[in-house]
Amino acid sequence: MVDQIPGIHHVTAIAGDPNVNIDFYTRVLGLRLVKVTVNFDDPSAYHFYFGDELGRPGTILTFFVWPHWVVPGRRGTGQVTAVAFSVPAGSFDYWQGRFEAHGVRFEPLTERFDEKVLAFYDPDGLKLELVAGPEPDGREPWSGGPVPAEHAIRGIYGVTLTEAAHDPTAGLLTQIMGFSFQGAAAGRYRYAAGASGPGAIVDVEVRRDLFRGRIAAGTVHHVAFRTRNDETQLAWRSRLLAAGYQVTPVRDRLYFHSIYFFEPGGVLFEIATGPPGFTVDEPAEALGTGLRLPPWLEPRRAELEALLPPLRLPVRPVPTPEF
Ligand code: ZN
Repeated sequence: MVDQIPGIHHVTAIAGDPNVNIDFYTRVLGLRLVKVTVNFDDPSAYHFYFGDELGRPGTILTFFVWPHWVVPGRRGTGQVTAVAFSVPAGSFDYWQGRFEAHGVRFEPLTERFDEKVLAFYDPDGLKLELVAGPEPDGREPWSGGPVPAEHAIRGIYGVTLTEAAHDPTAGLLTQIMGFSFQGAAAGRYRYAAGASGPGAIVDVEVRRDLFRGRIAAGTVHHVAFRTRNDETQLAWRSRLLAAGYQVTPVRDRLYFHSIYFFEPGGVLFEIATGPPGFTVDEPAEALGTGLRLPPWLEPRRAELEALLPPLRLPVRPVPTPEF
């Protein structure tokens, strides 16, 4: 019997300008930049990780930075089309005011199932949401950012998968990955991992009117689900292979270990281990303050630093709260 997946580990999207990206996620959204590294499969590109104080699994949004791509991304089927963050129920006035003050494009507050939802867009057009569910989210927010703790983002709430068909993806989620069906409304089918709640939500939105999505800046590259350790990861790999999925070998991402496969609708899924985490190569207080390279790329540091655009990293100590 394989271990249960407790929820999302991280979501990885694509950004165009590295400094605009860092500025938005740290200064506007108040997340912590917990790691500055490169894409291990394309070391000429940055890979940024944003999250809570330590970048705990379930709080992490990451970006591949591909500034040279001229064709923009397009939301469509076979994609994660929205990433939702969890916020306290009483914080929407604060966030609407903050978005206005910072020129962030956002939509009117809506309700979905039993939640409040504020949709907005990052500078590359990536669709994000702030969501407050019926139960408080017990996770501690990063306290070193500019957003007061009472309103701060608690972590990822869930993702929306946009699909041309419902059943194949639903079958993978429920029959193989252990998700449970939570309900459906207006073409949106809700599934939850483990004990459900913030960080465990996957909505499947069926859209037959859309083209297939195109992955570039402003879109999501993949979503990663969490597993306890290397052993449970190998059990997931065997189970997925037995079900006919083409699963990669385990890849060493330094901060976690990963396997990847495409779900039937075309979204790239990853299953990533919790350990070892972001303090494996720099202390907690120094997370995100400089370019970290894995041991196998360290010999190429000078060459890579010459290729990568210069960064304006958040200044320490982080500025006192504003607005
Ligand atoms: Zn990933």
